[in-house]
Amino acid sequence: MPPAITRFAPSPTGHLHLGHAFSALYAERAAKTDGGRFLLRIEDIDGTRCRPEYSTAIEDDLAWLGLGWELPVRRQSEHMDEYRHALSRLQEEDLVYPCFCTRKEILAEIASSAGAPHARGQGPEGPLYPGTCRAMDVEERGAHIASGAPFALRIDMARARARTDLAPEPLTWIDRDAGVQIAAPEIFGDAVLARKDIPTSYHLSAVLDDHAQGINLVTRGDDLRSAAHLHRLIQALLELDVPEYRFHGLLTGPDGQRLAKRDNPATLQNLRSEGASPADVIAMTGIDET
Ligand code: GLU
Repeated sequence: MPPAITRFAPSPTGHLHLGHAFSALYAERAAKTDGGRFLLRIEDIDGTRCRPEYSTAIEDDLAWLGLGWELPVRRQSEHMDEYRHALSRLQEEDLVYPCFCTRKEILAEIASSAGAPHARGQGPEGPLYPGTCRAMDVEERGAHIASGAPFALRIDMARARARTDLAPEPLTWIDRDAGVQIAAPEIFGDAVLARKDIPTSYHLSAVLDDHAQGINLVTRGDDLRSAAHLHRLIQALLELDVPEYRFHGLLTGPDGQRLAKRDNPATLQNLRSEGASPADVIAMTGIDET
């Protein structure tokens, strides 16, 4: 097996907390113990929530912890053209469609058709999209777009699956702890690949970037475990490399709740200002006990 190439991919929407430190150390160690490479990616597609000062603070905290990564750091906001290009390819292949629905309309549609098979599903990100805009005819779509109505781009899951079902083998990926996994992207329904406010999404950008950065081992928290189903489908549709995966448990606070960036006193910045050393913080993450 080639040496691991891993990455830590934080979103600069706040300061890093102990959970992030654990995740970064986990990715770095997976590479270093394997003679591999560790990279950094700043997931800053959301211009309203991400701040350059958080990005600077993140790099400063990681360096203080003793982590080193290869340069340049990949910043997603600098690669919007690549995401747009991938989306236009999916559009040309009729695998995505514009969705004009608001969240409120989606919930109302689900409530009004409760009991219908499509309305019952819950996906990893909430209720499954009931497909309202999927069947919209070309004229109506064109009229909405011409009127300037904002739209997201959703994957047409049935079409995408029909495409991948043509392959002789099922879609799989390797979870280094749990073995071969069979992809079931339909659990996401017609997921959003480009948001109304941002011309991409976490899922699309992360998959494209892992490919662009040559990542062969994706490590991430258990909260994103199910995302691999959708990511594997996107990899197949865009003919991208398929990395292996490892998932780690999430650190919880004293209340048993998972650590969040908000309302969290255990940011690395706070711990540092209280006099904690890098070794103290590493010990607090419990990484050496895993
Ligand atoms: N940017 C995501 C986060 O901060 C994680 C990205 C990933 O591991 O794919 O939660």
